[in-house]
Parts: sequence; structure tokens; C-alpha cells
Amino acid sequence: YSFAQVSINNIVETSLYLVSYQIEKNKITIKKNLNPRIPLIIGNKQQLEQVVINFLLNARDALEGLVDGRIEISTDMREDAEAGCTVVETQVADNGKGIPESIIDQIFNPFFTTKEKTRGTGLGLSVSLGIAQTHGGRIEVSSEVDRGSVFSLIIPV
Ligand code: ADP
Ligand code: MG
Repeated sequence: YSFAQVSINNIVETSLYLVSYQIEKNKITIKKNLNPRIPLIIGNKQQLEQVVINFLLNARDALEGLVDGRIEISTDMREDAEAGCTVVETQVADNGKGIPESIIDQIFNPFFTTKEKTRGTGLGLSVSLGIAQTHGGRIEVSSEVDRGSVFSLIIPV
């Protein structure tokens, strides 16, 4: 894979465009909150898009059947103690069904899915975690059943 300087904001915009047909806009409100001052990162554009797309499609699935489904996607930068440097963080938050504590340790396992076989392969998050790690980064999750979930892709600058 080729790595180059990439803009995470551009990656978010492209990802939103690519999934726009798969997200029922009449049922889901998407809010975008991108910090225009964040630095470029070294990465692979296609791989990072894959992560953001996985987050967005998982959020959509978590909102299925809800009347007031919302997805908020945001980017920002901050000093990160764990990485020991500045990181760029991309967050996808939904107000969907959430993830039970009993399974949250398993969601990054290859082939782990709670969806019907025709819908989910269970590979999205395991592939996404691999991509984050290839970039020297990580993924954080916080979730509450019936309240929603937040997935964060954290990449060092
Ligand atoms: P798949 O989407 O094919 O099931 P993933 O690896 O993308 O596989 O996700 C694994 C599981 O993690 C999902 O089946 C679901 O149970 C859970 N999950 C992921 N994202 C969310 C989310 N935003 N809200 C609720 N559950 C989620
Ligand atoms: Mg998925």
C-alpha cells in the first residue's frame, strides 16, 4: 500500500459521498463537524475511507427502525497521552441501539456479527482495526444500549 500525506477531512467527505445512496436520508439526519485546521496525516486514502465507511454503515444499521436516527461525524486534533503525540481523531456517533457490554469485547473479532448472514460479514471492524494499526493508530468505542455508540479512529500526526 502506498502512504502519502492525506487530509482526513477529504476522506470523510469522500466516504459520506460514497455511502450516501446506502443511507436513507429521509430517515437519518447526518451532522458534520469537521475541524478545518487539523493537520494532514501520513496514510493510505482508500484504507482510511474504508474505515470511515465501515463506521457509517454500522451506524446506519444500528439506526434501523428508528424514527429519529442521527449520525454525527466529526474530526479534531488533540494531544494524546497514549500515543504520546498529536493525533487526529475521526468520530462517528449514532443514537442507535447500542452495543451490550456482554459482546463489546468481541466486536473486533473477524466474522463476529449480530446481523443476519446476508447483511453482515463481521469483517468490517476487524479490517478497520488492522488499518488503524497499520497507521500506528487505534480505534476506541463507547456505547450504551438504547442510547447509541461512538466509534473513534485515532491516528498519530
Ligand atoms: P458487521 O457490520 O458485518 O456485523 P462489523 O465488524 O462491522 O461487522 O461489526 C461487528 C458487530 O459490532 C456488529 O454486528 C454489531 O453487533 C456491532 N456494531 C458495530 N458498530 C455498531 C454500532 N454503531 N452500533 C451498534 N452495534 C455496532
Ligand atoms: Mg460492519
